[in-house]
Order: sequence, then C-alpha cells, then structure tokens
Amino acid sequence: SSSPGKPALTVLLAGPRGFCAGVDRAIKIVELAIERYGTPVYVRHEIVHNRFVVEGLQAKGAVFVEELDEIPDDGQPVIFSAHGVPRSVPAAADARQMLYLDATCPLVSKVHREAERHHANGSHILLIGHAGHPEVVGTMGQLPPGAVTLVEDSEQAATVQPPPGPLAYATQTTLSVDDTAEVLDVLRARFPDLSAPVKEDICYATTNRQAAVKAIAERCELIVVVGAANSSNSVRLREVAERAGCPRAVLVPRGRDFDPALADGLSTIGISAGASAPEVLVEEVVARLRERFDVRIEDVTVAEEKIIFNLPRPLRTPRVAVA
Ligand code: SF4
Repeated sequence: SSSPGKPALTVLLAGPRGFCAGVDRAIKIVELAIERYGTPVYVRHEIVHNRFVVEGLQAKGAVFVEELDEIPDDGQPVIFSAHGVPRSVPAAADARQMLYLDATCPLVSKVHREAERHHANGSHILLIGHAGHPEVVGTMGQLPPGAVTLVEDSEQAATVQPPPGPLAYATQTTLSVDDTAEVLDVLRARFPDLSAPVKEDICYATTNRQAAVKAIAERCELIVVVGAANSSNSVRLREVAERAGCPRAVLVPRGRDFDPALADGLSTIGISAGASAPEVLVEEVVARLRERFDVRIEDVTVAEEKIIFNLPRPLRTPRVAVA
C-alpha cells in the first residue's frame, strides 16, 4: 500500500544477515545457565559485541566483568564469551575451583586447535588479525609467548620477520575475505612453504554476510549495517559495502541512533547486520525509515544457513528433578 505524501524508497535486505550460530549458542548458554544455576551468572567480557544483547541479559541476572578477579567466591558460574579466551583464563578459574561454562564459538575453538597442531609440529604461527580484539588475544593465548606473530595487514605482511624454520598461518574468524586474500598473497610470495589451515579460518557466517552485502552494493546508494563499533565482523561489512561499489555505508547500533533523513533524495538503500546484531534492531531501522518514506522491501538472499552448534555438556543433559 502506498502512503501519499511520502517519497518512495526501495530497501534491499541483505541475507544472510545478523545472528550466526555461534552468537545464538553463546546467548542460549547464558540464558540456560541462569535457569539452571540461578542468579547471578557471571560473564567474562561482552558475551557477544552488542549492547542490546548485553543489557537484555543483565536484566535477566547476568553480571558482566572483564576479568575473573572481579568475581566473588559465591559458587555461581562464570561464562566465557563467544570470542574465546587465552588458556590462562580457564586455568585461573580451575585454580579457584570456579564452575565455568565456555561459550567460545566452536569455529574459534577450531582455530585454537589448529594453532596448537602447527605449534606441536614445530611451526611458528603467523596470525592474521586485529591487535587487541579478544579473539586475537584468545588465539595467541593458546600457545606460549613467542609462538605466534600477529600480522595485521599487507604492510606488516611485507615486513614481518618470523624466526627461521617452518611457518603456518591462522586468521581471526571475522576478517574481510578480500583483505585477507591480499595479506596471504604477500605472505606466500615471501614464504612459499607457508602451511595453511585444513579448512579456512574465516567462518561461514562472515563469508556469507560479506557476499550478501557485495550482492546488493552496486544497486544501493546507501547501505546501513546494523552492528556495534567494537564488532569486528560488523565493521568489516561496512568496509566491504563501500569497496564493492556502494557510495556510502554507515554502521548503526540500533534504530534510535539512525537518522532516516540520511536516505533523503535516494531511491534504493540496503540494510545488513553483523553476526552479533539481533533482527529486532534491523526492524527498528526499517521502522525509522517508514516514518519518512513509503518503503518497499526486497529480500536479496545469497545463501541458506542451517548450521546449529551443540550446547556445552552441562547444559545439554536434561535437568533431573529432585523431590
Ligand atoms: Fe562463530 Fe563465525 Fe559467529 Fe564468530 S561470526 S561466533 S566464528 S559463527
């Protein structure tokens, strides 16, 4: 139905977008832990990089901390975030006999195990990723200091001086597929024997969300990526949109932070969402657009995702009722 007076706007919804299986699982772990163990349930670091999700879980009784030493010895469980943790974290929890649940995405754990395998085979590891991101801290922290060298971009790939001997690489799961291919070209030219992961480390969700944004980029005059500024995969989606030919892409945490006047004078815009952004926040952005435009929605889905990850064992078994 058209609303007279409002200008027409076509909105292309990129699919897949939003929650991935790892984020879905991490949030479920916190919710199930609250059901099973009561409150508070502690969570080390934002469970996923999204304020809306974190505030929703806080309202249910989750208490977020950055480090374990902020947690009292009250017998309540602590959950490690989807990004993964260095080995020192579960070790510290064991030392304090804390009950912990690991919400590390299985696809991040896979990168950890590969890094260990390469290290056990005597290889030095070049980790492609962003300094300071918790996933990078977690992956580097699987191995002793000095076993991994971080490579952030093509410039660093051109100058990095790893120790002599066999070399392998691993990557962060949420990188730009295209940037990473460039970094690898530089590394392979310098180190032709560089060993690769068995299966690539950039995850299916990152790959599919970037492909979906690329599929709409040339048709869009603006792309809105719903996601947090500290969400690696969301920030990458914004960059991918502009590199794929969209003149402007913006990152927006949620509807109230979005000014629909940004679309004034435009006929087609696109929307995507990072893997940690719930669909309700996409709906908020669409609602803001409807205040100002006669919106026509078009779904552009480039891949179906059916992957679901198992929950950690303590939350999988049915709860035994005690009379
Ligand atoms: Fe796992 Fe990929 Fe989702 Fe990260 S973005 S939680 S690696 S599925």
